[in-house]
Amino acid sequence: MITTDTTALTIQRLSRRYGSLIAVRDVNLELEAGKFMALLGPSGCGKTTLLRLIAGFEQPDNGVIMIGGRTVVGPCGAGIPPEQRRVGMVFQDYALFPHLSVAQNVAYGLPRSPDREARVQELLTLVGLADAGRRMPHELSGGQQQRVALARALAPRPALILLDEPFSNLDAGLRLAVRNEVRQILRREGATALFVTHDQEEALSIADLVGVMIGGQIVQVAPPRELYERPATRAVAAFVGETNFVPAEAHGSVAQSPLGPLPLLTPHHGPVQVMIRPEAIELTVDEDSPHQIVERNYFGANVRCDVRLSDGSLISARLAPWHDVPPGSRVRVSARGPLVAFAD
Ligand code: ATP
Repeated sequence: MITTDTTALTIQRLSRRYGSLIAVRDVNLELEAGKFMALLGPSGCGKTTLLRLIAGFEQPDNGVIMIGGRTVVGPCGAGIPPEQRRVGMVFQDYALFPHLSVAQNVAYGLPRSPDREARVQELLTLVGLADAGRRMPHELSGGQQQRVALARALAPRPALILLDEPFSNLDAGLRLAVRNEVRQILRREGATALFVTHDQEEALSIADLVGVMIGGQIVQVAPPRELYERPATRAVAAFVGETNFVPAEAHGSVAQSPLGPLPLLTPHHGPVQVMIRPEAIELTVDEDSPHQIVERNYFGANVRCDVRLSDGSLISARLAPWHDVPPGSRVRVSARGPLVAFAD
């Protein structure tokens, strides 16, 4: 693995066991300085353990961790303690000191120096709380407390910010606003950040890169659109977003399926499962079609239609909300390609 000056985090062959359970398995990861990466995965896949290993709250059984070009866990296992790793942490519950003012919270990790007060004010301005320095944490809303936690983590200019489910305590309306704010603040500060989430929409909408973790391993790291449109494995395709898998027989760049011939992104041969996202499907009313709508759910922003195909299998389509073809209608089904296929 080649590590350059612009690499903020390098992880090589990192593993952590708890008894017979391997929580983190042979993980390799690189994060370029200034990037915002989401670590996404189902519950129990090892996201928090990986974050705690990076922060130094857990010791790995194997592997190397480098932060800001410095080895903090070497091949012999001995690690640099958490407070010397130049890592800032933002927790789910913000973990502000309740007896300290907002400004004192932000100043907490800063060494005493003539610049200290100016840096605190700079951070409070950055997070939009320039006038809130004297207030106490309990006097702030959840979103404001989150911004103070971020300011506190950023204050000592860490090489890396780690955020553990940072938005999960906020209600849905506030979450959208706060996560955009957090992204903007991190950008303005030029910070490098890794955040753990199990919220796919959150990961896809604000991260520069998304790493998908399944069963203790990182199975793909990619920009959000690439991850969604070109998942590396069937497991990633199934975990990230809604999808249909249509059985087909591939002959090079085309696969024969119950929907007819489907264009493939990369050539395959033999039995495959073709991934078709529900929003890539179009339905056209056709009384002669063997396919039939069997269920329709209206969601406001879109309509989901379940269609029973001629071979008895079901496929789901997401259509614009003005499509009001009722259940029982016969429809032609077409999919926008080219499509990703996985060998069966
Ligand atoms: P969630 O999204 O639910 O928080 P996660 O992806 O963060 O899950 P981890 O908390 O990292 O997953 O846990 C990974 C696995 O390791 C789980 O099976 C968990 O039960 C186990 N585990 C974590 N910490 C410990 C521990 N201290 N002792 C024993 N097992 C642990």
